[in-house]
Amino acid sequence: MRIEVVTIGDELLLGFTIDTNAAHLARALAAEGIEVARRTTCGDTAASIADAVGDALERTGAVITTGGLGPTSDDLTKPSIAALFGREMVLDEEHLAWMKERWRTRFQRELPASNRQQAMLPRGAHKLVNQHGSAPGIWLEDEQGRWVAMLPGVPREMRGMLADTLLPLLRERLGGEGWPVRSLTIRTTGIGESHIADLVTAIPDGLGDVELAYLPNADGTDLRVTVRGAPRPIADARLALAAVRLRSVVGSHAYGEDATDLAAVVLDLCRAQGLTVAVAESCTGGLLGARLTDIPGSSDVVRGGVIAYHDDIKRSVLGVPADVLREHGAVSEPVVRAMAAGVRILTGSDAALAITGIAGPGGGSEAKPVGTVWIALDFQGEVESRRFMMIGDRAEIRHRSAQAAMEMLRRRLQR
Ligand code: AMP
Ligand code: MG
Repeated sequence: MRIEVVTIGDELLLGFTIDTNAAHLARALAAEGIEVARRTTCGDTAASIADAVGDALERTGAVITTGGLGPTSDDLTKPSIAALFGREMVLDEEHLAWMKERWRTRFQRELPASNRQQAMLPRGAHKLVNQHGSAPGIWLEDEQGRWVAMLPGVPREMRGMLADTLLPLLRERLGGEGWPVRSLTIRTTGIGESHIADLVTAIPDGLGDVELAYLPNADGTDLRVTVRGAPRPIADARLALAAVRLRSVVGSHAYGEDATDLAAVVLDLCRAQGLTVAVAESCTGGLLGARLTDIPGSSDVVRGGVIAYHDDIKRSVLGVPADVLREHGAVSEPVVRAMAAGVRILTGSDAALAITGIAGPGGGSEAKPVGTVWIALDFQGEVESRRFMMIGDRAEIRHRSAQAAMEMLRRRLQR
C-alpha cells in the first residue's frame, strides 16, 4: 500500500512549528509496511487543502491528513475535503451529545458555540475515535475505494488516534499483505562520509540487496541500511549481512547500532573495567559532563568535573601552572594535558578527559582559528592529547568536542 501524507497549517509553512506529525506518521507507517510515497504541507485555506489532497488522491487514492480539525475559523480540513468528494456537511447528533456531556462533566459549563462545528461531518464519513481530545478523526471513502483519513494536528492527539484507531483499520485493509520496512543503523565517529563511501564502493560483493543512506551529523556519520518489500526474516538477514560488511570496512570507527549513545558505550566499558572518570571542561562548559550523566546509572563511573572556563580556575582549581598558561595560551597542548592531570588527581579518578578550544564565533586568530580544540585523556597517569579542527557553528563545535573526547576514552578502553 502506498499512501500520501498532507500536513495542514500555516504555522508549518511559516516554520514556526516543526512538522513532527509527518515524521511520526512516516516512521509508524513504514513499520507496518505502508510506503509513504510523498509528503505535502499546505496552508489553512480551503483552496490549498483541496488542491493538495486532490492531487495526492489522484496519485495514490490513499491520503492521511493532519491538522485543521479544531473548532476555529482556520480549521477548514473537513469542509474542503467534503467538497472534493462532493459530500455535504451534516450534523452528527451522537457526537454533539457526547461533546455536550463532556463539557458538562469535565468543564462544568455549556458547550461553546464554536465547538459545535466539530460535530459536523461529511455525509457518509466514519468517525475515528479520539480518546485524547474533542475533535474526532474522520475517514472518508468514495465509491472507487479512494480514501482520506483526517487526523488532528495536536501531536499527542494525532499519535494516540493513529495507534488506537487508524493503524488497526489500515492493518485490516492490508490483510497481511505488506511487509514492514526494516532498517538498521551503524553509528560511526571520527571518519568522514566520503571516506566511508570510498571504502564501501571497494567492498568486493557490495552490500547485497539493501539501500544505504549516509547520515552525517554532529555525532559522526550514521550508516543506515534499509530493506523494503521482503518478509521480515529475509529482510533482517539481509540487514545483518550488510551490517557485517559495513563494520568490516569502518572497523573501530563503529561504536554502536541504531540509537546507541557514545556516552553509554563509554560508561559500559568503564563499568566493565571498574574504572571511574572525571572531566575538566573549558569551551564545552559542562556539555561533556552532561552527556555522560544523561545516561541513567552513570554515578558508578562518573566522579565529577570542573568547568574551568576562566584561566583563574584552570590555575587555582586544576593546578595548570601560570607560566604555561601565559606562554602557550589557554587553548594549547600543555594546558589541556595539565587540565586532565589536574582533575584526575583532584577527583581521585582513574581516567580524566579535558577539553579546551575556541567555539566561536569570536576569539579566533590565524594561529588558532575558531574550531581549534585540544582534548586530553589522563588514563591512570598516562596522558595522551590531540588537536582537532572542528567544523560547524558554536553549538556544533561544542557538541563535536564532547563527542571526540568520549571517543578518545573509548579507543583507550578498547585498546
Ligand atoms: P490544528 O489541529 O491544525 O488546529 O493544530 C493544532 C496545533 O497542533 C497547532 O497549533 C500546532 O501546534 C500543532 N500541529 C499542527 N500540525 C502539526 C504538525 N504537522 N506537526 C507538529 N505539530 C503540529
Ligand atoms: Mg491549524
